[in-house]
Amino acid sequence: MQSEKHVLVIFPHPDDEAFSSSGTIKLFTESGVPVTYLCGTLGQMGRNLGNPLFANRETLPEVRKKELIDACNVMGIQDLRMLGLHDKTLEFEDEQYLADIIEKVLHEIEPSLILTFYPKHGVHPDHDAMSNAAAIAVARLPKETRPTIYGKAILKNSVDLIGKPDIVIDIKTVAEDKLKAIKAHTSQTSGWVELMEQQLKESSPEIEDWLYRETFWTYHV
Ligand SMILES: [Zn+2]
Repeated sequence: MQSEKHVLVIFPHPDDEAFSSSGTIKLFTESGVPVTYLCGTLGQMGRNLGNPLFANRETLPEVRKKELIDACNVMGIQDLRMLGLHDKTLEFEDEQYLADIIEKVLHEIEPSLILTFYPKHGVHPDHDAMSNAAAIAVARLPKETRPTIYGKAILKNSVDLIGKPDIVIDIKTVAEDKLKAIKAHTSQTSGWVELMEQQLKESSPEIEDWLYRETFWTYHV
């Protein structure tokens, strides 16, 4: 993990990073690798306003902002950048415009590795818009300076389409931190957390995929 110079995390919604890669991120920050997180939106269109209700449409962005900061603290991310884009409308943004934003950061921090969704394999249109923009931005760089991209593919048939993930990261030592990062996004993840805690207690096999390893597919631009 130490071999990376700087890791750039790119996701559209607060909580995408927690589910997909918080264990990997924690391993990087623990070994002293700087991590920058570009979070596209504040998930302000999220359906979940809590039960009992803890937020409304006006207050939800503030709630999710705080949750995101808490999650970043758990993961050890010191450079969180909230882009303030509009939730659920990223697919309608000009892809070159989104790529411009990312490209600027690429020049600034010169990451050696990017964590994002695997383009076209993110299920949600916001996920695909963000990873597509990341791929465009990377493709603009001269070949020898391009960072590696680890893409998270989450289509039901991703394995049929692009094969098994080539990157499997053992996150067992930081499993608790991953759970905490997910937990930090309380407004969106409370049901999940209970399920995971239960599975953890019962050492059920599903927990392997949730909390003991994270998988990615290297994406070639
Ligand atoms: Zn998302």
